[in-house]
Amino acid sequence: MRAIGIPVLVIGIILLIVSFVNFAGGSISGAAGNMITFALGGIMLVIGFGLVGLSIVRPLSKYYASEGAPGIKIASKSIGDGLKDSNVFSDTKKEIIKIKCPHCRYLESEDAEFCSKCGKKI
Ligand SMILES: [Zn+2]
Repeated sequence: MRAIGIPVLVIGIILLIVSFVNFAGGSISGAAGNMITFALGGIMLVIGFGLVGLSIVRPLSKYYASEGAPGIKIASKSIGDGLKDSNVFSDTKKEIIKIKCPHCRYLESEDAEFCSKCGKKI
């Protein structure tokens, strides 16, 4: 794309310069030809800019697609892990069963052997 764009751009600039030089030279006989040269130069300049622009923008967008995607993937993965840790989307939510200490009525976790408040065996 750039191989076509740059020559078109250069030719367009040359045509514009030529037409400007002819205008400055005040050649009356070539006035109509000058207008065509000027218009052609302008069109080629626009097309050249478009082609060169595309050839520069395309690798850039490709770069973002290849370099940006893993970053997004890592970010979304860490967010997913965070949600998993906080049990927001988890169906297998761990239920914490508590039992009351018979001595002081402190709510102790089920697997505890001794009350963490009064220290007596449950
Ligand atoms: Zn207790």
